[in-house]
Parts: sequence; structure tokens; C-alpha cells
Amino acid sequence: MKKYVVITGASSGIGYDIAKEFANLNKNLVLLGRRKEKLDVLKEEILFVNNNIDIKIFCYDLSKEKNVYSFYNELKDIVIEVFINNAGFGYVKDVVDQDLNVISNMIDLNIRALTILSTLFVKDYCDVKNAQLINVSSIGGYSPSKSSISYCATKFFVSSFSEGLNKELKILGKELRVKILAPSATKTEFMKKAKQIDEFSYSGNFNTSKDIAKYAILLYNSDKELGIVDKDFNFVLKDGIFPFRKELTSKGE
Ligand code: NAP
Repeated sequence: MKKYVVITGASSGIGYDIAKEFANLNKNLVLLGRRKEKLDVLKEEILFVNNNIDIKIFCYDLSKEKNVYSFYNELKDIVIEVFINNAGFGYVKDVVDQDLNVISNMIDLNIRALTILSTLFVKDYCDVKNAQLINVSSIGGYSPSKSSISYCATKFFVSSFSEGLNKELKILGKELRVKILAPSATKTEFMKKAKQIDEFSYSGNFNTSKDIAKYAILLYNSDKELGIVDKDFNFVLKDGIFPFRKELTSKGE
């Protein structure tokens, strides 16, 4: 039976190029975003280079809880080998000036959708050898930065949940591995959306989405838990960063 790599947020940026990298590995793809026209272009580009693979496109707004379940249900009849929760967005504003509707939406997508999809995938695939869940966090998921406090906190959730989940599954003797990809500044549509402006011009140090997609493949091929772009823009593979307690203490903490 055909196996698929599922990528949310594949219509632009990091997800777009991760899809191309997995296509280079001859993987069948499930691509999700809200903008069908962008996903159609990506599908055409990939099939032009490699028409041996199958590509399924889904358009859902994952910030709506019922859509998250509908999307996962659409995947019931296929076999998934890698599930990549990449869809997410940032918000650059001091908390004192933040619009709570944006924050709510960001929490719904960056945290709730990712948690639901991760959990459903874990339940279905925890005993499947070589299955992987890759959650896209950020360097901001390990260090808060001014004017992105709330966004960074959503990524702290992603990092802590995913690092903890991987260790918990190992302790339980499960096959599924959970990994975290943590990019630093990357030239995509991210900043213009996060700043709510029409154009953003990158300067100083930044990666391209193609760099990050190559790092995603290094992480996929490694036995490490975390692939992070550090403050000097080196890509480092490591066994997670957060401390992990194997048991609750006797005080129930
Ligand atoms: P991007 O170009 O804006 O891509 C975001 C993707 O998420 C798009 O495909 C978008 O597709 C999808 N998406 C957004 N809202 C969605 C929703 N409600 N439902 C479904 N899909 C949705 O930004 P990117 O930089 O590639 O971001 C990808 C991931 O990398 C994000 O999780 C981001 O937090 C993380 N990251 C980015 C940077 C950076 O500097 N760029 C750094 C660290 C981490 P549609 O608009 O078509 O729905």
C-alpha cells in the first residue's frame, strides 16, 4: 500500500519547500493549506519533475477545530509515514498593543490544531515502525523575544509538548518518533503576515525556505529529537533541550 508524507501549511514558505524535498525522495504527498491555487501550482511543479508520485491536496482552515478533525478523517484510508505539522503564523506586537482576536486565532492554529493532529496521529501510528511526527517550532520556542512574546509562547508549547511526547513514547516502548524542527529567521511570507504589512524586506542573517527544507530532511534521517537553527545560524541536531521528569514526584507535582 502507498505511503504518504503529510505536510500542513504547504502552500508557501517552509512547507512548500519541504514538500519538494520529500518529492525528491520519491514520497507520495498530502498537502494542506487554505489557498488551493498555490497548492495546485506546487503539485504541478513537483509532477513536472517526478510524475511517479501521488499528491493529494486538501484545503482547510485549521484554526477551526471541526476542520482539524475533518482533515484528519480524510486521511483514514491512506497510510502515513511522516506527519509534519508546519502550518502556523506569528504576530509581532508588544502584548500591551495586541489584538486578542489575532492571539486567539494564533493559539487555535499553532497550539490547538497541532495538538489535535499530533494526538490523533499518535493514537493511530504509535506502534508503526519508522513512523515520524515532525512538529515545526522555532528558535522562539526556546527563547522568548520582545514583541513576539505570545507567538514564542505558542512555540514553547510546540517544543515542550513534542520533546515530552517523544520521550514518553520511548518509555512506553512505542515505535513512533516525534521530532522538532526549530528554524530561526527564514525568508517566507511569515514576517509580512506577522507584522500585518504588504511587503517585508529581509536583511542581516536569515535562511531561505530551501535551507530549512534541507534541514528538515537531515532531521528526518537522523535519530535526534531536535533540529534547531542556533543564534549563529548553524543547524544543530540534538536530543532536545527541556529537562524531562520520568515520573511525577511523590508530592504529585
Ligand atoms: P508562511 O510562508 O506564511 O507559511 C505558512 C503556511 O501555513 C502557509 O502554507 C499557510 O497556508 C499555512 N496556514 C496559515 N494559516 C493557516 C490556517 N489557518 N489553516 C491552514 N493552513 C494555514 O510561513 P513559514 O515561514 O513558511 O511558516 C511555516 C512554519 O515555520 C510556521 O509554523 C512558523 O511559525 C514556523 N517558523 C517560521 C520562521 C520564519 O522566520 N519564517 C521561523 C521559525 C519558525 P494558507 O495561507 O494557504 O492557509
